[in-house]
Amino acid sequence: MPQHKNHNPACCCRKIRGFGRRITPARHAVLDALSARGEHLTAEEVFKAASRHYPDIGLATIYRTLELFTKFGMVNKFDTGDDKARYEFADGPGAKGHHHHLVCTSCRRIVDYNDFINEETELLRRTEEGLANKYGFKINTHILQFYGLCKDCAK
Ligand SMILES: [Zn+2]
Ligand SMILES: [Zn+2]
Ligand SMILES: [Zn+2]
Repeated sequence: MPQHKNHNPACCCRKIRGFGRRITPARHAVLDALSARGEHLTAEEVFKAASRHYPDIGLATIYRTLELFTKFGMVNKFDTGDDKARYEFADGPGAKGHHHHLVCTSCRRIVDYNDFINEETELLRRTEEGLANKYGFKINTHILQFYGLCKDCAK
């Protein structure tokens, strides 16, 4: 699984400033929590990780910050079918880049993969082209998730 090594907060800060936003301790804490673990975290999990370093941080601030980062495209927000939005670090130093997900519906484990992404990309490119033509829809991106049972849960 890809890990977020060499996280350089200075670069994230530059990015936030590029959007005309200030770097607050809360924003730092959220970025650190997401990029350090390289996982798909719920807002509550980000809150838990962030409050270890910033005990004053509140859950409402975490939600607001995550929404802001999602809007900037620094964080991907997605749904795994259990009513809890999950977030992952999308853009910046050490980000995983474009990938797809295998979601275990039993233990909620999320596997990142990009092994077959070339084959998929070609298929998706053609599908997107067809959809764009048929519906006059300009497609920017997609989220692809497969649901099922992971190796351990399938036993
Ligand atoms: Zn893709
Ligand atoms: Zn599982
Ligand atoms: Zn992922």
